[in-house]
Amino acid sequence: STVLMNGEFIPREEAKVDIEDRGYQFGDGIYEVIRVYNGKMFMAKEHLERLSASSEKIGIAISYSISELTNLLETLISKNSLSTGILYMQFTRGISPRNHGFPTDDVTPTFIAYTKIMQRPLDNLENGVSVITVEDIRWSRCDIKSLNLLGNVMAKQKAVEASCYESIQYRELSVTEGSSSNIWIVNGEKVQTHEANQFILNGITRQKIIQLCNENGMELEEKAFSIEDLIDADEVFLSSTTSEVTPITSVNNVPVKEGKVGEVTKKLQGLFIDAIIAECGQ
Ligand code: PMP
Repeated sequence: STVLMNGEFIPREEAKVDIEDRGYQFGDGIYEVIRVYNGKMFMAKEHLERLSASSEKIGIAISYSISELTNLLETLISKNSLSTGILYMQFTRGISPRNHGFPTDDVTPTFIAYTKIMQRPLDNLENGVSVITVEDIRWSRCDIKSLNLLGNVMAKQKAVEASCYESIQYRELSVTEGSSSNIWIVNGEKVQTHEANQFILNGITRQKIIQLCNENGMELEEKAFSIEDLIDADEVFLSSTTSEVTPITSVNNVPVKEGKVGEVTKKLQGLFIDAIIAECGQ
């Protein structure tokens, strides 16, 4: 396959990481994952704006404009003939002798991007997934899409060991988010998710769902809820770029209501697919 490295299109085998790259040594960088449907990026502008926001929050200067990045990524998709899948991209603070302080301004960020074939998770979307709850041990800047994912990795591994799809993290009394997803509950007609602050990543899928709720007159609250609220909810679902709107049918081995996919969740899945088709075609 062809990958993008520092603005050049090169074969996958030729893309190598330096042992003193700050991403490799410190996780000092940021990333994005963008869905590709029908050979077209979904919500690329929103992802690239979040990337730009993350880079500003940690002081990495990206020398490409959003339109330059868009052009490079579109070329990458076409060079790999990708139809359904994802695009992964990251910027690190570059290569410099190991030292915690930032390198001088002449050190340029390392930029890589590559594509991967990935089908839509149709089985999960239709039947739902199981989750467990775990303590959120991460730092207090989860709004940055940082390469430092150790807390998320450890949370996800607990789910894997429990044969679950995802871990739902909680900080004191509040459910924050999944290891790589946002978490939602539904009660009656009301949809609720954690407010976008420093304790969660403001998912692009989350933002689209909020927009869809608003456009369709659905009741929505952006406010943290408790584990008790999660267990008592009529419906629970998670959202992410790769998982879209995935129903959660069991929490800690206890079925959510009757363990069936809820009606509001199904409605949002339908609206979400309409949004994909509107942007990327059928
Ligand atoms: N929270 C975390 C911690 C994540 O890693 C992700 C997925 N990247 C999300 C939420 C969902 O974000 P998005 O909808 O932009 O994929």
